[in-house]
Amino acid sequence: MIVIDGAEGEGGGQVVRNACALSLVTGTAVRITNIRAKRSKPGLMRQHVTAIEAACAIGNATCEGLVVGSCDLTFRPGRVVAGDYRFSVGTAGSTGLVLQTVLMPLLLADAPSRLVLEGGTHNMLAPPFEFIDRCFLPVVRRMGGQVEARLIRHGFYPRGGGRIEVDITPGSLQPIACLTRGAPVSVSACALIAALPLSIAEREIAMVRKAFDWSDRECFVRELPVDQGPGNILLLEARFEQATEIVSGFAQLGVTAERVAKTAIGRMRGYLACDAFAGPYLADQLLLPMALAGGGAFTTVKPSEHARTAAAVIERFTGRRTRFVQQAGGTHAVTIA
Ligand code: ATP
Repeated sequence: MIVIDGAEGEGGGQVVRNACALSLVTGTAVRITNIRAKRSKPGLMRQHVTAIEAACAIGNATCEGLVVGSCDLTFRPGRVVAGDYRFSVGTAGSTGLVLQTVLMPLLLADAPSRLVLEGGTHNMLAPPFEFIDRCFLPVVRRMGGQVEARLIRHGFYPRGGGRIEVDITPGSLQPIACLTRGAPVSVSACALIAALPLSIAEREIAMVRKAFDWSDRECFVRELPVDQGPGNILLLEARFEQATEIVSGFAQLGVTAERVAKTAIGRMRGYLACDAFAGPYLADQLLLPMALAGGGAFTTVKPSEHARTAAAVIERFTGRRTRFVQQAGGTHAVTIA
């Protein structure tokens, strides 16, 4: 059994999700201690419990310590069985983070699966649906994984109630190198808004127009049905021939529209100012599929603590070492052996 100290490195929920996914794929049991020790409320939260329950369901795994608040989890994997699954995060916990846990084991299973995931589709500190669909999954498809995701209904934190569907068809994954972006293709700014004054979204778009030389056609407000709110997120997208980056600013009570826009604008400026393939979030999310594809490489901005921690967990299970090498100009080359 592998024992992981959850307090090491970044010390967050991703350690648990990656460890359970790797446990299912490698068939190695794992115990994680000090779970989320570096968070203000340590231990498993509802959304982590749902993600692990999902891992148990697809992989006939058994668990000790699987309750909200638990800081010590033992996960014993069984056989991963493809099929139709529905998982509901009782709160607005992120559907994208549940997907992160079960995607790779199902992609390496022996038959297709269909997932219905209910909960949050647009949360702070989690990948919004658009990011999964247009930034992350295209890279997985380039490795040979056939995955299609559909957003059926938006679910904004804290109310949730969203729904996504994902079709997963296994195939053999190949190592790929994602070193360059290619030429620019398009940019867009979309302010999604539901059950809140439209003026909030209009103010966000006005800030984007001030910051970037993007046209009217590229910057728009999308009003969603009232019953999918309340919620608001600003999504800025830059598409290149080989890469797409989507950065976001998530509205919260007490945070002005201008502040939300500034967050997203700052992130997009950071990405546009360099020539790396992956932004910081995509970087930590690509490590697991690349390691399970037998290796891979990409360029990114400065690697986050999340990425370094994910690399350490992956190495414990697979023996594959990730190297982060700074290049001239400040970007980093990430190579998974
Ligand atoms: P914790 O509360 O312990 O931080 P968590 O399970 O909510 O735990 P993390 O361990 O921080 O979350 O992992 C969050 C994941 O969501 C990471 O894979 C990160 O790349 C991704 N993520 C966070 N924010 C964004 C964003 N704006 N766009 C894309 N991906 C994001």
